[in-house]
Amino acid sequence: MTARLLDGNAVSARIREELQPMVVALTARAGRPPGLGILLVGDDPASHIYVRNKIRSGMDVGFHVDLRHLPASTSLDDLLAEVRRLNASDVHDGILVQSPLPASMGDDAERRVFDEIDPAKDVDGFSPQNVGRLVQKQPTLMACSPAGIVELLDRSGIAIAGQHAVVIGRSDIVGKPMALMLLHRDATVTICHSKTRDLPAVAASADILVAAIGRAAFVTPAFVKPGATVIDVGMNRLDDAATVTRLFPPGSPRREQFERKGSVLVGDVHPDVAEKAGALTPVPGGVGPLTIALLMKNTLRAAERRMPR
Ligand code: NAP
Repeated sequence: MTARLLDGNAVSARIREELQPMVVALTARAGRPPGLGILLVGDDPASHIYVRNKIRSGMDVGFHVDLRHLPASTSLDDLLAEVRRLNASDVHDGILVQSPLPASMGDDAERRVFDEIDPAKDVDGFSPQNVGRLVQKQPTLMACSPAGIVELLDRSGIAIAGQHAVVIGRSDIVGKPMALMLLHRDATVTICHSKTRDLPAVAASADILVAAIGRAAFVTPAFVKPGATVIDVGMNRLDDAATVTRLFPPGSPRREQFERKGSVLVGDVHPDVAEKAGALTPVPGGVGPLTIALLMKNTLRAAERRMPR
């Protein structure tokens, strides 16, 4: 069996196209476009790429997007002051602080930043109020990657209700909100993590398997029930030739990409899973673009709630 590829780029493009006329109408009504303020701290190359993509998508959809790039030496207090400036701004409806923050800011820096963002502008859906609303099944702004995955399943005609969904990963930004969203869509949900016993067997009981681990090619065919839907959230940059050689055969596009660029982006799911799964998201081109589309959707939703009717 070769899995049907679930094309995140195509679904993301469709979502963003659907948003455009709503952005035009809201801009005309409010006299200004929805505004997204992005704070980026430091020089992490991957974060720069993600932020560039978010800015481009926001501008394409018709938002006002501005970026404040702060040096890696910025103190947490200064970053929190930037968040408060955006909280008070009349022209910013959404605020995004790109993670990861520099380690020098301390272990609880991200949590303190999420706590500071006005929940009405929290387009990442990470603030305690927005998480609480999700838990109570009254969501307003929901975490983008898991919300994008639900949209992808819906738009791909993959049933959720009554299915056994296994989510590997229990982070606040992916695993936990993913499990809640699937639960609210009437899946039977199992959450796995690093202490789960007999993980491959638990995973192989899933109709829908979501891998949000952060370990390249961790989910091998042994984790997958034949025909299952497998959602690969992981984004791992590999620059180790031995691993790339083991994963990708000579002449394959990924191997050639590695030979050209010296690194390659790999998900949490092993390439051989494509022979066993019924449907699979690619990396890149799966969950990543959906995360951005849902960020746009959240920003529009935040703007609609803030702008006069
Ligand atoms: P995270 O905060 O590091 O969480 C990883 C989770 O995986 C933890 O719950 C951890 O369990 C679990 N885990 C680690 N090793 C494991 C093992 N050997 N067996 C079972 N579980 C294990 O990561 P995250 O922020 O959720 O992100 C996960 C991945 O998704 C990363 O590659 C990240 O880059 C990617 N990501 C992609 C997007 C996108 O748009 N495509 C968005 C966000 C994240 P414990 O809790 O027990 O430690």
